Amino acid sequence: MAIKLVLFGRQGAGKGTQSVLLSKHYGAPHISTGDMLREAVAEGTSFGIQAKTFIESGALLPDEIMLGVITERFGHDDVRSDGFMLDGFPRTVGQAEALLGITAVDLAVNLDVPQDVVLERLSSRRVCGNCGAIYSTAVPPTVPWVCDVCGGEVIQRADDTPEAITARLEAYERDTVPAIAVFAERALLVSVDGLGRPEDVSARLIVAIDTAIS
Ligand code: AMP
Repeated sequence: MAIKLVLFGRQGAGKGTQSVLLSKHYGAPHISTGDMLREAVAEGTSFGIQAKTFIESGALLPDEIMLGVITERFGHDDVRSDGFMLDGFPRTVGQAEALLGITAVDLAVNLDVPQDVVLERLSSRRVCGNCGAIYSTAVPPTVPWVCDVCGGEVIQRADDTPEAITARLEAYERDTVPAIAVFAERALLVSVDGLGRPEDVSARLIVAIDTAIS
């Protein structure tokens, strides 16, 4: 069965990690708009150069641009046959309504982690610049700052600076919390406690999703 899921959560809630696990569990492609934009930045395309300024300041890209990105991705065969696990989209009411205009969504899940916890996680977060594996200053790779998974360099994300973190969390409260409400109004939302070990959180997510869509 092709499942169509959206995962919401504050930056640092563990959305990226959990989306990858859920994507494997349900066999639905993981679509992370943040990853897609970072790839465009790394490739140095004209779109990437444009996106870089927004990303590094922690600001959201305009809805029209993001809708173009997502519409293009939805045209690929894997989405048509296997659904999607959306991570980082939608992030505004405009994006949420546009998404529901182009596709049905089975469920949106809000991965709930309080602001003080994500602040601490984001400032200590480190990521592999090559494969995206996530570490922290408290749980570094075995050999200092060489990725255990691929040998890439483990770095601090350009938008994990205090200024960008503040801007991103403000954008979440101002723009994304109302987007979550769009799904709640349509009885398409469940909330799951995101605190605890990643494996416990994914077990909780799977139970909540299976219960809601059965
Ligand atoms: P993320 O990795 O999901 O935290 O995304 C990193 C950055 O990419 C965000 O802070 C935004 O600048 C940009 N971005 C990703 N997804 C979106 C979106 N749906 N709408 C607007 N900007 C986005």
